[in-house]
Amino acid sequence: MADNDIRNNDTNDNGAKEVDILIIGAGPAGLACGQYSARAGRSTVMIEEMAPGGQTMIIDAIENYPGLGKVSGFELAEKFESQANAFGCQTVYASVSEIKPLDDGTFAVQTSDGAYKANAVVLATGAKHRTLGVPGEKEFTGRGVSYCATCDGPFFKSKRILVCGGGDSACQEAMYLAKLSQDVTVCHRRDRFRAQASIAKAMENTAGIKVKLNTTVASINGEDGKVKSVTLKDVATGEEYTQEFDGVFVFVGSEPQTQLVPFCKKDEAGFVATDRTMMTSVPGLFAVGDVRDTPFRQIVTAAADGAIAAHYASEYIDRLEED
Ligand code: NAP
Repeated sequence: MADNDIRNNDTNDNGAKEVDILIIGAGPAGLACGQYSARAGRSTVMIEEMAPGGQTMIIDAIENYPGLGKVSGFELAEKFESQANAFGCQTVYASVSEIKPLDDGTFAVQTSDGAYKANAVVLATGAKHRTLGVPGEKEFTGRGVSYCATCDGPFFKSKRILVCGGGDSACQEAMYLAKLSQDVTVCHRRDRFRAQASIAKAMENTAGIKVKLNTTVASINGEDGKVKSVTLKDVATGEEYTQEFDGVFVFVGSEPQTQLVPFCKKDEAGFVATDRTMMTSVPGLFAVGDVRDTPFRQIVTAAADGAIAAHYASEYIDRLEED
């Protein structure tokens, strides 16, 4: 199994395409895994539903990925993908509906591109943005409520913007939005930010940004099909008041995308548990990046996860072949 192509002609009895390492998801973790796996001579297929890059694609400027200075998320994703493809990793645009661990240690994977039989599978499905769950949020999504500053920020040039959340994403995206409008308010439910201190401080010192701590969103209110105001709640006093905003950007964390692996062990928050080789509770099934129970979610740590998983997935296949 050392060919560097999927063996399309070499199908099993069910007509499944055979591959050494099947990666599900082409964010930084999946792309780095694809690069390392293909470079190690393993036939590698990466299945992606949307565009390569994952959440990186919606980041305006990345300045903490080592060696590259300041790059856009789009540019970094393109670099990741072209490097993986150059080593022979094949990207397939499809959705995966099932991963079935087989008795012989391999996996049957059903996709909209047909069935695959993989010797090892790497889950790199990432995480999806969380919602606030307040009245008006769903109704006005796409009509003033957004979860992506790079995508929707330009619609709110010089408008009144509310950013909700206290993590790295909220702080970083607020700084991006402050380039478009000098009227950005960041509200966070606690008295201190969760974000890395350097990022929170830079945000607080950015011109055009006002901060409201101990503040939650009670409801998002609209008129004529678009956001008009937000009712905020001071959690210290319980006081509710309504303030006019044109756009509400919600960055309150994310939910791991684990629907494909109900049989894997998870941590309390639902992230997939792995050992230090990125192997899950199912031998031969690895998890990398934002979907796994990592303590620090960064592009660089996701890429490192991918490299580790590729190495140990290859070792797993060596053991399968010895048996
Ligand atoms: P996060 O770190 O999980 O932060 C989520 C924030 O939303 C927290 O401040 C949380 O409040 C708040 N929150 C959660 N549920 C809420 C609710 N229902 N109502 C109001 N507020 C709520 O998420 P993130 O900022 O998206 O970051 C995700 C991961 O990516 C992190 O590991 C982060 O370090 C990483 N990241 C890194 C960078 C970078 O290094 N440049 C950029 C972006 C993201 P509490 O603080 O009270 O829990």
